[in-house]
Amino acid sequence: MAQSKQNSIQIREGIRAVLETFTHTPKAHVRSFGCQLNFCDGEKYKGILHDLGYELTDTPEEADVILYNACAVRAHAESRVIGQLGALKPIKEKNPRLIVGLCGCMAEEAEVRALLKKSYPFVRLVLGAGAMERLPESLLAVYQGQKHCEALEFAGLPDESLPTVRDSSFQASVPVMYGCNNFCTYCIVPYVRGRERSRQPEAIEQEVRGLVGQGVKEILLLGQNVNSYGRGLEQEINFPELLRRLDAIEGDYFIRFMSSHPKDATPELIDTMLESKHIEHHLHLPVQCGSNRVLKEMNRNYTVEKYLELIDYTRAKAPDFGFSSDLIVGFPTETDADFEGTMNIIEYVKYDNLYTFIYSPRSGTKAAEMPFVSTQEQIAARMSRLLKRQREISEAFNARFLHKTVRFLAEKRDPETGLLLGKTREGLVLEAAGTPEDIGRLLHVKVTGVKNWALTGALL
Ligand code: SAM
Ligand code: SF4
Repeated sequence: MAQSKQNSIQIREGIRAVLETFTHTPKAHVRSFGCQLNFCDGEKYKGILHDLGYELTDTPEEADVILYNACAVRAHAESRVIGQLGALKPIKEKNPRLIVGLCGCMAEEAEVRALLKKSYPFVRLVLGAGAMERLPESLLAVYQGQKHCEALEFAGLPDESLPTVRDSSFQASVPVMYGCNNFCTYCIVPYVRGRERSRQPEAIEQEVRGLVGQGVKEILLLGQNVNSYGRGLEQEINFPELLRRLDAIEGDYFIRFMSSHPKDATPELIDTMLESKHIEHHLHLPVQCGSNRVLKEMNRNYTVEKYLELIDYTRAKAPDFGFSSDLIVGFPTETDADFEGTMNIIEYVKYDNLYTFIYSPRSGTKAAEMPFVSTQEQIAARMSRLLKRQREISEAFNARFLHKTVRFLAEKRDPETGLLLGKTREGLVLEAAGTPEDIGRLLHVKVTGVKNWALTGALL
């Protein structure tokens, strides 16, 4: 331990010595793509670089280190990242000392690494999603002349003392666990982020308490399946218990969380949310598909009926309670009849919001071996039907809030229209006229209208 501390001091000194030879302030640009967890990791990469002596910049052209922190979940998003990495080549040619790196779960894919080595040799640093602590040593290796540096492990938890540079002063993401054990047959995450491991509850509590103390108004707890939080920890604790501990922290703030796997979401979770002071009255509960056969082939481990039981349990207690979901359209074995099941679910649940994805084959997953039973045209037609109907459903169901008073966190403001945009405790997007000083505040709003997914309101 003492030796590794010594080692890390030497590495920092090595980098400092390199940076001292610069005739300008060394700068770093970190760009994250994909899910909230990736953005949260991005804040840690920024923290590490800042701590090493780099000033952070939004402009890649003036950077001495550029890190793209990218997500592996869908192939299309990956190709875009590869394209954007390619676009950095002229910047690298102008500035030969520039270090370009790819990190995040996309960097865990052997195919991606092979492609970079072959076609993008100027990307000299590759850092897997669980190897962020190794950023300093990897940078130093490249400064010392190593042509290509890869660091890839993802077994443990990130060091609790890693520095973080937060993107917002009033919203903060807090990972409660890393990795996933579920192996849904379409999903690459367990292969690129490793098995589930939970943070100690005390460390999470301490982080949340610190954030609330700094005036943060929205805490987003993150994990691939937060409902399996606590498994493998020495002390007995489940996710509802963690929520209760966090909810007891004094202050004026919201707690949100994602994602909840339906196989592990329980009435205890719903009761905890309903009895809480701070937790949102909204649950993101990704169903993925409305056909029991396809759910089985996806290895989701619940049925439509089991899923709806929890919705019914919740709505019996709180009729206004909102749900959102992820849906995959065009899983290889999905037929028109299976898709009708998906349409039935959205009619029944009346989601506030849907995150819809066209199925994307990911190499190494089981589903990637399954032949498609539908054409891409059929799949595209299903998707547009789904989106059209969902817009109507959200608009009609969101009207339940008309004339009610809700609490709302103003996240940003359009300077031209003067409209604030943010979310209510029920997880709904809301727009209301306000001033720049309202940004980052929790406000009381009277709902005056419904517009597609969003509510409109007037500040009280
Ligand atoms: N762990 C979360 C869960 O199970 O709800 C989801 C995490 S995943 C990063 C986010 C969403 O991406 C999934 O819920 C799924 O809808 C979608 N997704 C994952 N793999 C996909 C694939 N191969 N093609 C299309 N969508 C995919
Ligand atoms: Fe992927 Fe399934 Fe794990 Fe979510 S639960 S990350 S969809 S394998």
